[in-house]
Amino acid sequence: MTPLAPPMALIAELTHRCPLQCSYCSNPLHLDAARNELQTRDWKNVLTEAARLGVLQIHFSGGEPMARPDLVELVAHASASGLYINLITSGVLLTDAMMSPLLSAGIDHIQVSFQDTQETSADRFGGYHCGHAKKLEAARRIRESGLPLTANFVIHKQNAARIREMLALGEELGAQRIEIAHTQYYGWALLNRKALLPSRAQLALVTEAVIDAQARLSGRITIDYVVPDYYAERPKACMGGWGNRFIVIAPSGKALPCHAAESIPGMVFPSVRDTTLGEIWTASDAFRKYRGTGWMPVTCRNCDRREIDWGGCRCQALALAGDAGATDPACSLSPHHHVMHEAIAAATDAALDLIPRRPGLLPAQGA
Ligand code: SF4
Ligand code: SF4
Repeated sequence: MTPLAPPMALIAELTHRCPLQCSYCSNPLHLDAARNELQTRDWKNVLTEAARLGVLQIHFSGGEPMARPDLVELVAHASASGLYINLITSGVLLTDAMMSPLLSAGIDHIQVSFQDTQETSADRFGGYHCGHAKKLEAARRIRESGLPLTANFVIHKQNAARIREMLALGEELGAQRIEIAHTQYYGWALLNRKALLPSRAQLALVTEAVIDAQARLSGRITIDYVVPDYYAERPKACMGGWGNRFIVIAPSGKALPCHAAESIPGMVFPSVRDTTLGEIWTASDAFRKYRGTGWMPVTCRNCDRREIDWGGCRCQALALAGDAGATDPACSLSPHHHVMHEAIAAATDAALDLIPRRPGLLPAQGA
């Protein structure tokens, strides 16, 4: 048997607090309260253990990781531990006063997410007045500091028409990488799916613009494209396979194989408050449950893509097929694949309001 490799990257969700309220946020519907967040010393232990375990990259994420007053201290600790450090931020708190300490602490890369290119709609989607202007300032600040920048755009029905403007904005900002990511329908995005899921024509428009830009900017800017599962024939390798490449630590300290794993009922996720990262990775039931191919239903077990996409996403299988151990319905070989077509057919009303992501705001009804 091949020995288990360490996780390539650790995603540190420092907090679920965020000044924005994006309706496509992948955070869970039940957000961790600030009082339950790990303390600075807990996070430092996690970072030290991660480096010892063989983790190469740390992604500080959230919520908005810059809402944590100890972010600079944690970046410095990660840097001293030899980790490559990426900050995934909305950018609205990335002021001049924050940029310099982050650089001194050893930050390696920053990713800024944009809601749109038009200020009015960007601020509406983010639920934050003047947010877009602050993001533009943050992106310019990052480039002026000499750090590499990724500009991330989350695509959905209500902004897809502006894909070419998004690509142009990423280029104008001097981003080394532009990520055009169709909304992934977990958490708040699943709740808002009817109002967000693009039509097939919109998907074609976005794909064509991305292909054009990839050809035009080849060798200068990397353009990553994340397509929506709902139009796929085969699923993505969610997180590179369950317990295979990534470990996510939620604000409260729970260790998860993916951001949405807590949506799977009946699973108990270990906490870094009680157990070492090494034990969690190698020995915990939660990480072993869907690791590899042994758990797979027969459709996947007999398929030559089983070690390419690892059967797709467990959380999506649960949400759409009612069974986390089923073949991802994004796969056309899944007996539940029809639910994708039904969702596309149901998502035709562009005038639907979006439910904002807010702590304590629980849905009255499902998506
Ligand atoms: S997607 Fe929006 S609401 Fe969610 S963490 Fe990112 S910026 Fe905040
Ligand atoms: S049957 Fe399973 S392994 Fe094969 S493509 Fe579909 S999801 Fe992937």
